[in-house]
Amino acid sequence: MTVRTIGIIGGGQLGRMLAMAAARLNFRTIILEPQADCPAAQVANAQITAAYDDPAALAELASLCDVVTYEFENVPVTAAEALEKSVPVYPPAKALEVAQDRLTEKRYLNACGIETAKFHSVDSQEELEKALSDFGGKGVLKTRRMGYDGKGQRVFKSEADSPAGAYEALGAVPLILESFVPFEREVSIIAARGTDGAIACYDPAENVHLNGILHTSTLPARVSDATAVTARDSAEKLLAALGYVGVIGMEFFVMADGTLIANEIAPRVHNSGHWTEAACVISQFEQHIRAVAGLPLGNPDRHSDCVMTNLIGDDILALPQWLSTKDVLVHLYGKTESRPGRKMGHVTALNGRKTAS
Ligand code: AMP
Repeated sequence: MTVRTIGIIGGGQLGRMLAMAAARLNFRTIILEPQADCPAAQVANAQITAAYDDPAALAELASLCDVVTYEFENVPVTAAEALEKSVPVYPPAKALEVAQDRLTEKRYLNACGIETAKFHSVDSQEELEKALSDFGGKGVLKTRRMGYDGKGQRVFKSEADSPAGAYEALGAVPLILESFVPFEREVSIIAARGTDGAIACYDPAENVHLNGILHTSTLPARVSDATAVTARDSAEKLLAALGYVGVIGMEFFVMADGTLIANEIAPRVHNSGHWTEAACVISQFEQHIRAVAGLPLGNPDRHSDCVMTNLIGDDILALPQWLSTKDVLVHLYGKTESRPGRKMGHVTALNGRKTAS
């Protein structure tokens, strides 16, 4: 199959950066997104302005595209499955199903031999109290679905933290209680699998979150070679098990002894991989486009050390300083209005030639 047009479900900044990478390789892109003039549509060939699960819009997208991908993990699985009947959808719908539910995700990772925090499924206040006492009163309570950037979570730091009313407070929806992981730092790995089964992994990034939102990704991450190898091995196992095509982001907690505990996966390009556009010849965005279009994967090697910083809300006011700093790549998302917590852009500062993995 020759791919000429790529459909992208979701019109945010990730879709925008995918569309830009696609254009450089001569592909056309069509965005499915309910919000008009979204960041992705500003740089794509066309937009279908409709809900992600609108049957007529999905049929139109399938008829216009040679392959369909997506930029967020909450694409309805039913929409991906409906599309799959008439057009290849990458990554596969199975990856969405796994990533959309923290309980399914942890079970799947464990079945692949990838360690996660211990967990209990929580469907009532009574189950919460039982689960919490099993973890010695400590843990992180999360909604199983639709949580992002730390939303829909409650941390129990000690037995003094009362769980009273917590089940209701999180919406009385299916929850998961994770054991509290006393990690030393957080890292992520961006990996890709092509239609031919080839896998390419970028170096692990060390991530710092502020108010639950990614603040910086730094390369190299302060991890041993053995830890970096474990991160790569985990990604390879997961991609092979899912029969995956495209880029995936995997987040891990790093323990004091270098052990990795997988936290979550994102079946898409990932904010903690934005640094690749400045510090690698082939960015995560081009890698994803190559994968879904059936092209050979590019070399994921990093040529430089770097720090990626997200510009969130009023951080955008520092734009003039970033623009006048040497060796900084600025990337803005086409959002006219800045709001607290809204990702407006990011900058990647190169810090000289690569020093370590
Ligand atoms: P998440 O939405 O799962 O990415 O969680 C947001 C942030 O909360 C993570 O980046 C961690 O800093 C923290 N966190 C999440 N789960 C745990 C856990 N089980 N133990 C300790 N900290 C956690």
